[in-house]
Amino acid sequence: MTDLLEIFDPKAPPRAIGIDLGTTNSIVAYVKNEKPCAVVDCDGQALLPSVVFYGHQGNVVVGRNAALHAAESPRETIVSVKRFMGRGAGDPETKRLGPYAFAKPKPGDPNTIFFDVHGKSITPVEVSADILRTLKRLAEDELRSIGGAVITVPAYFDDAQRQATKDAGRLAGLDVLRLLNEPTAAALAYGLEKKQNGKFAVFDLGGGTFDVTILVLDDGVFQVRSTGGDSALGGDDMDRALAHEIFQLSGHDSDAASPSEVRVALDLARRVKHALTTATEVELENPFAKQPSSFVVTRARFNALIEPLLARAGTVCRCALKDAELGAAELDGVILVGGATRVPAVRAYVSKLFGKEPLSDIDPDQVVALGAAVHANLLAGQSTNDEVLLLDVIPLSVGIEVGCGVVDRILPRNTTIPTAARATYTTQQDNQTGFEIHVVQGERELAADCRSLAHFTLRGIPPMPAGIARLEVTFRIDADGLLGVHAREQSSGKEQAVSVKPSYGLDEQTIEQMLLDAIDHGEEDLMLRRLAEARIEAHRIVTSTRKSLASDADLLAAGEKERIESALVTLEKVAAEAQANDVRRLQLHIEDLDAATKDFAGRRMNRSIARAIEGKKLDAIEGAVKNSKGIEAAHAPPTNATKES
Ligand code: ADP
Ligand code: MG
Repeated sequence: MTDLLEIFDPKAPPRAIGIDLGTTNSIVAYVKNEKPCAVVDCDGQALLPSVVFYGHQGNVVVGRNAALHAAESPRETIVSVKRFMGRGAGDPETKRLGPYAFAKPKPGDPNTIFFDVHGKSITPVEVSADILRTLKRLAEDELRSIGGAVITVPAYFDDAQRQATKDAGRLAGLDVLRLLNEPTAAALAYGLEKKQNGKFAVFDLGGGTFDVTILVLDDGVFQVRSTGGDSALGGDDMDRALAHEIFQLSGHDSDAASPSEVRVALDLARRVKHALTTATEVELENPFAKQPSSFVVTRARFNALIEPLLARAGTVCRCALKDAELGAAELDGVILVGGATRVPAVRAYVSKLFGKEPLSDIDPDQVVALGAAVHANLLAGQSTNDEVLLLDVIPLSVGIEVGCGVVDRILPRNTTIPTAARATYTTQQDNQTGFEIHVVQGERELAADCRSLAHFTLRGIPPMPAGIARLEVTFRIDADGLLGVHAREQSSGKEQAVSVKPSYGLDEQTIEQMLLDAIDHGEEDLMLRRLAEARIEAHRIVTSTRKSLASDADLLAAGEKERIESALVTLEKVAAEAQANDVRRLQLHIEDLDAATKDFAGRRMNRSIARAIEGKKLDAIEGAVKNSKGIEAAHAPPTNATKES
């Protein structure tokens, strides 16, 4: 009997693929006869190790064969490149991440990391593109031609990391339809949407990153209620802990070990870890001894070594549940994702933590790629299923800096994306012809304590009195989590947009730290915010009083000017010197100035009404009065915005 060959229909549209671009392993999958399946290589392997070796002659090797070079050419063999994606050259983390040589940052591009390989500079994006190119070829071997691709990223990836991933996809010649969060992809692979309703946690412990996501399924629609993660937690960390133990058991000083000895220990550690998933103890040849000797590593010892890692994952899970305002008991299911969830101690820990047996019937290595394939198929319009809505959240609030350095949050943290929001601002000073817009990210009240994402200036606004210009600022976060900011001044129609430049160096630990800082400084921040707002109010009343003193001096009663001047000068002095706990005092001085100008303001009002009445009917006058009140209200802070540029 002969083997049957599948017949390709040349008119069939190219098929979209899903890619799990993992730190340790990558996979490509597609939907075949309505079912997602992973593409295997000629050895029948679906997992492609995310390792790239750069040879002397310019040859590039990706995958298992590249990993073989790691021991003798550690600097030319890039592993875990995902950890470098979107990171800055100045990031202290990057020096810790392996035995690589780094080229000097380029003058115009101080933030990009360059690996120095045979004197050539290679960026993490290029290394990732080499992995993606290999996966693309693998898929093309099976499908002839491919349509678009969905690439997955950890839920916690920031703008820069997402942008870098997209760039890598394009560089590899892929049409990147969308970036999809890994946990969301896993939920799709499990077909959770068919259950219509439920609450789920996705526990993803891979080689390099840990992610937990709380998904709420409502009438067949997924919402990512909260996410948490740690980019420095995974199977690699178990390997490191075990390698340290191997050095100790073999009587070798780990501090004095050469890079290749470290590789040997790490390789051995990984094999021991895998073996301990099924065996309760493993006997090893001492890799560093002159005389043949051996020692035993038990599963119990391994479990003890990884306990601190599990505790860290536990903390992240509890935070994510808290953010989602859910108790573990309210969850309908927990999904295991990532090769490291094969470790029995991890499974036991997850069961205990969530109080239920986790779902694990789909291969935890493949589940993300399979889900990505389902989504790619859907986006390419080749699915017969009903549309599945995927909603993710932003990990930190984004907003702009307004008067006195206060942050106006436009999109709060954990807002589901894609999303957009608009806020309107006005000028604080007369004849202001530009707005400086400072986009920030974080939970603190003052811009100086948040992370600066972008600065841009909107110029060419015609001179107007303070409070008349109307600046509309629109924030839009697309399905990939990338932020676009658009500013438009209504009366002049001047507009300006930025898509926030890749911003480097924000990882989960930074996010976590920023959240903790916001909690620690909550009260103090609130006081500083109140102070800033009181200052804006003081500035507004001082400016408008000065103006009316000049324009309506003839309405001042005897001695009134001196009283007003004195209250004015005192208020200015108090506003300039006020500390966080002087807000009440500042407000009292604002009230003083208000009181001192009350009669004067009444006289000015009468005058303007008298002017308005001249030759007009009563309803027109009422209209004018109402209108003037409307403008007064629109002048009010705290939306009074930015400094003059
Ligand atoms: P990533 O998402 O980071 O690419 P994976 O999901 O492929 O990672 O998981 C890789 C990790 O899983 C590695 O640390 C690997 O050693 C570990 N792993 C794979 N299989 C097993 C196993 N049988 N037992 C223990 N750990 C395993
Ligand atoms: Mg993974």
